[in-house]
Amino acid sequence: ALTIGIVGLPNVGKSTLFNALTKNQVLAANYPFATIEPNIGVVELPDPRLDRLAEIFGSARILPATVSFVDIAGIVRGASEGEGLGNQFLANIREAEAICQVIRGFSDADVVHVDGKIDPAEDIDTINTELILADLQTIEKATPRIEKEVKQKKTEPEVLAAMQAAQGILEEGRTLFQAMQADGFDTAPLEDLQLMTTKPFLYVFNVDDDVLADEAKKEGMRALVAPAEAIFLDAKFESELAELDDDEAREMLESTGQDEAGLDKLARVGFDTLGLQTYLTAGPKEARAWTIPKGATAPEAAGVIHTDFQKGFIKAEIVSFEDLDKHGSMAEARAAGRVRMEGKDYVMVDGDVVEFRHGI
Ligand code: GDP
Repeated sequence: ALTIGIVGLPNVGKSTLFNALTKNQVLAANYPFATIEPNIGVVELPDPRLDRLAEIFGSARILPATVSFVDIAGIVRGASEGEGLGNQFLANIREAEAICQVIRGFSDADVVHVDGKIDPAEDIDTINTELILADLQTIEKATPRIEKEVKQKKTEPEVLAAMQAAQGILEEGRTLFQAMQADGFDTAPLEDLQLMTTKPFLYVFNVDDDVLADEAKKEGMRALVAPAEAIFLDAKFESELAELDDDEAREMLESTGQDEAGLDKLARVGFDTLGLQTYLTAGPKEARAWTIPKGATAPEAAGVIHTDFQKGFIKAEIVSFEDLDKHGSMAEARAAGRVRMEGKDYVMVDGDVVEFRHGI
């Protein structure tokens, strides 16, 4: 499964956040296909549409999609030079598909900040700098080899050009993901180098509850990372929330004026940052969300249920969740002409409710 690596300076609340995530961990019995390891937290992707589907189809159970987070050992300044746990840290990051940086925004005199002060901009810069330096090293090390391969016509010259462009971006102190978001920099030719700053980033600001209610303060922090996504939560509060049952948790949330748990927001934004979306299936047995990459075609979506469904794909019977919700049953939606037959070139839309026809 695709994973989001949680990184951040020491004492920012990573472990607190990760513990909260693991308290919310899915039941392995429901997800036998998910590998659950000590440093991985697998949580459900909240999706109220599944409750409605279960109601319409009389489904016995609900199976949401999942999002996986991996706790990556603390970064220290100098990690790119192999300081402390540096090398292990970089190896772990390489294995994650997206990077979630936790940033300390809470003020607690009893918890020491490694750099002696609360400065989110500086913290972001510290992490970015280590990743940028590591990528620069990777590029410098690979350049002579790639130059040789281009001469031997084993590698396309575009790769070398992209490496030079990337080097320029990194030397300006920008990540390749920032360049991708801001100027559409194409990282595709660099794929084999497994550079770290090409991964999508998202940011969690771990803040006190007074900041959660302070839109102006949040806007200021959001501006530090835009256009990347920013999530504001109180890790300690989330950890307490994760121990309550659903009704109690909802009450506690409401009492603090929040409309959604921070962990739910993180799961949602993280899933989206990974470039994923879901489609839905429903029947008497279960109402279920299936994970596919954005842009996946109908046969590719079928392949997520079973590889044979992709090979034997004939067509897909599809109704949008909105139409099904509005009409209240498959029969009514069909009578209203809202149920379509789609072929092998159909590109899936988030929330499609699907039944595949296959020849196996
Ligand atoms: P890590 O080093 O980034 O994993 O940080 P920890 O999760 O171990 O947190 C460091 C310290 O900060 C611990 O004493 C936590 O209890 C405390 N802490 C974490 N999150 C919060 C928070 O949101 N508010 C406050 N006041 N303290 C927090």
